[in-house]
Amino acid sequence: MDSADISADLQHVLLTEEELLNRIQILADQIQADYEDEEILLVGVLKGAVMVMADLVRSLRTHKVEMDWMAVSSYGSGTTSSGVVRILKDLDTHIEGRHVIVVEDILDSGLTLTWLLKNLGSRHPKSIEVFTLLRKPEAMKVPVEAKYVGFDIPNEFVVGYGLDYAQKYRNLRCVGTLAPHVYEN
Ligand code: 5GP
Ligand code: MG
Repeated sequence: MDSADISADLQHVLLTEEELLNRIQILADQIQADYEDEEILLVGVLKGAVMVMADLVRSLRTHKVEMDWMAVSSYGSGTTSSGVVRILKDLDTHIEGRHVIVVEDILDSGLTLTWLLKNLGSRHPKSIEVFTLLRKPEAMKVPVEAKYVGFDIPNEFVVGYGLDYAQKYRNLRCVGTLAPHVYEN
């Protein structure tokens, strides 16, 4: 759906579909240059990274790329991340000796990704980097080095392009903030 389909629920559009896709193509070209002819494994973090992954992988001009998925849930209350993570779905593949890029929708406190990088790092990949579409520098509690960052955004709750509010709005083509009335229901 487009912003016009839910204009009453949207407060403002932060990033249009065009801006998102253009930026992803630039980062894909960068990845292509960095890894040259090497095999890459993209590890998407469900469910938020589904859209980013779909567009990123199609923007790469190589067949030497595979996708795998992890689902994690962070313990703790409501919207704040505790850093204690549980694996709901692990990778199907082994990553030992492989070039891994973790693909995330958003880097907020950094707690989830810190845990994930430690977990994946213990499996002895050849290399491991982070691709995140969005990053909130003001919300960062632990520093996470992300090599590929789409956009730095203000510390606001955003939805769309894979990001949800109560599992909804993931299918919005752009990224935006929700009107206050949405949270009152
Ligand atoms: P962390 O705080 O551990 O860096 O982020 C954990 C997760 O919180 C992210 O992967 C994402 O699923 C969720 N999250 C953080 N900020 C936002 C946001 O602005 N909007 C939505 N929909 N999810 C967010
Ligand atoms: Mg996520």
